[in-house]
Amino acid sequence: MGYTEAEKELSVYESMAARFDVAARQLKLDAGLYKYMRCPNREIIVHIPVEMDNGTVEVFDGYRVQHSIARGPSKGGVRYSPQVTLDEIRGLAAEMTWKCAVVNIPFGGAKGGVVCDPEKLSRGELERITRRYTAEILDYIGPERDVPAPDMNTGEQVMAWMMDTYSMHVRHTVTASVTGKPLDLGGSRGRREATGRGCMIVCDQALKRFGKTPESTRVIIQGFGNVGSQAARLMYEAGYRITGVADLHGGTYNSRGIDIPALLEYAHEAKGVKGFPGGEAAESCELLEQDCDVLLPAATESVITSRNASRIKARILVEGANSPTTPPADEILFDRGVFVIPDILANAGGVTVSYFEWVQDRQGYFWTENDVNDRLKHIQVAAFNDVVHYGEKHNVNNRIAAYMLAIDRVAFSLKLRGIYA
Ligand code: NAD
Repeated sequence: MGYTEAEKELSVYESMAARFDVAARQLKLDAGLYKYMRCPNREIIVHIPVEMDNGTVEVFDGYRVQHSIARGPSKGGVRYSPQVTLDEIRGLAAEMTWKCAVVNIPFGGAKGGVVCDPEKLSRGELERITRRYTAEILDYIGPERDVPAPDMNTGEQVMAWMMDTYSMHVRHTVTASVTGKPLDLGGSRGRREATGRGCMIVCDQALKRFGKTPESTRVIIQGFGNVGSQAARLMYEAGYRITGVADLHGGTYNSRGIDIPALLEYAHEAKGVKGFPGGEAAESCELLEQDCDVLLPAATESVITSRNASRIKARILVEGANSPTTPPADEILFDRGVFVIPDILANAGGVTVSYFEWVQDRQGYFWTENDVNDRLKHIQVAAFNDVVHYGEKHNVNNRIAAYMLAIDRVAFSLKLRGIYA
C-alpha cells in the first residue's frame, strides 16, 4: 500500500494525487475513471485590476478550480493569501470532492483563491478585489453550479460581498450563491463553529476507541483563526485540557491547561496569542512536537513533514487544516501508530453546515442551532464510523480508507451518469 518514490512529492496537488493513486490501486479503479477523476473538470485563471486607495491600479491573480460536479454542484472555499498557487487550489479542489463524498452530501468539489496579502489591504481594497474576482468568475458559479465559501483570510464579510455581487448581476437576491454568510443575510446558525465542532465530534469518537475521556486528554492546537479558536473553545467547554495554542506570530504553552476564554479575549485585543500572560511563550513548530494526546493542526498545509513527523508525540492527530501532513510524514505517523483523523473527515463539519445553509436558503426556512448541531453530529459520527470500518475491512489506514470510500462513491455516480459526448 506504500507510496512510490515518485509519489513522495510535497506540493498540495501532488500530495492529493499520490493519495489518490494509492487508493485507486487498492480499489482497482477502472483506467478511464482513474484518468477522469484525477484531474479537475475546469480551471479558471483571472487577472483582476483593482484601483487602490492611493489611486494606482494593481492587478491580482485569482483562481477557481472546479474538480468535480459528479454528485452535485461543486463546493469549496476561497482563500486570500500571498502564497496561493494554482497547484495548491487544484489539489484543494480535488480534496473538496473527496470530503463531500466522505460525509455523503450532494456536492462536488471546487476551490478558489486570490494572490494578495489581506494584512496590507484596506477594507475598501478588499471589497473591490472580492467584487471584481466574483464578477470575473460569475458565469461559472451559482447555487446550481458552484457555491463558494470562506477559507483562509476570507470570512462572513467577504461572503456577503460575493453574494451581493452575484445578486446584482442576476438582478435578484440569491442567498444560496455562497455559504458562510452573516446570519442576517441567509447564513446558518452554527456555521461559524461548524468546522471546529466537527473536529471535536470526531475527536470524541477517537477517544472512545482509546477508552479516554476529554478530562484526561491534553490537546495542542496550531492556528487560532476560525477553525482553531472555535475548536479550542468548544473542546475547553467539553472538559479537554488545551495545553498549547499557536498562530502565525507565536504560541503559548501551559501544562496545567490554558484558560481558553481568557486567551480568546487576549487574542482579540492583541491580534494574536503571542505574549499571553497565562502561559509560557512557545514557537509554533515547537508546539507541534510537544508532548500531548491530541494534536490539532488548524492553520495551513504541509506543517507535518518527514522532517518532524518522527518527533510528533500525540497519539491522535485531528487534521483541522487542509493537507497539514505530507505523504512521507503519513508513513512515519502510521508506522508509529498515530491515529490520524484525515482532513477530509476531520474538517468536514464546515462543508456539512455549508450544505445545511444552502438547503435552508433554498427553502427559505431556517433551522434552530440545536437542529444544525444535531444533524452535524449525526453526519460526522456516521462518516467517522464509515471510514474506520472501511479501513478495518480493507486493512488500510484511515487516510487511505477515507480516500477509497470517497473515490468509490464518486466513481459510482460517474458510472451511473455515463460520459456525455
Ligand atoms: P483563518 O485565516 O481564520 O486562521 C488561520 C490561523 O492559522 C491564524 O490564527 C493564523 O495566524 C494561523 N497560521 C497561519 N499560518 C501559520 C503557521 N505557519 N504557523 C502557525 N499558525 C499559522 O483560517 P481558518 O478558516 O481557520 O482555516 C484554517 C485551516 O483550516 C486552513 O487549512 C483551511 O483550509 C482549513 N479549513 C477551514 C474551514 C473553515 O470552515 N474555515 C473548513 C475546512 C478546512
